[in-house]
Amino acid sequence: MSTEFEAKMKEYLLGEKTRLEKELGSFSHRNTKSTETDFEVDFPNLGDKDDENASEVAQFSNNLSLEDELEKALRDVESALERIKEGLYGTCKYCSQPINEKRIIARPTSSSCIQCKKTLTQEV
Ligand SMILES: [Zn+2]
Repeated sequence: MSTEFEAKMKEYLLGEKTRLEKELGSFSHRNTKSTETDFEVDFPNLGDKDDENASEVAQFSNNLSLEDELEKALRDVESALERIKEGLYGTCKYCSQPINEKRIIARPTSSSCIQCKKTLTQEV
């Protein structure tokens, strides 16, 4: 993988990190006690009426699943950035072969080549 390509992917990943953190920050806050990337959803406060309370519960449960999704994406992005730092980005973590650049473009957080991924997940 060329240095320019890696720099481009790093720029993309940093942008994703900022975007995901911002989105998570709009309805949750970072758990600072955790050493891992961990966000906790804030309970919305829309008002004290019954229908407002019902909306709060609905919104809270929506946010919980959204938080789960975004947090997973953020962790993937962070581990990809970590691999860039360690000089391992673009290399399959199972067979140590370079990952096809097309695959990286399609999925910038991939840490395994298509062959290994197929073997592991039996995906076609
Ligand atoms: Zn592999």
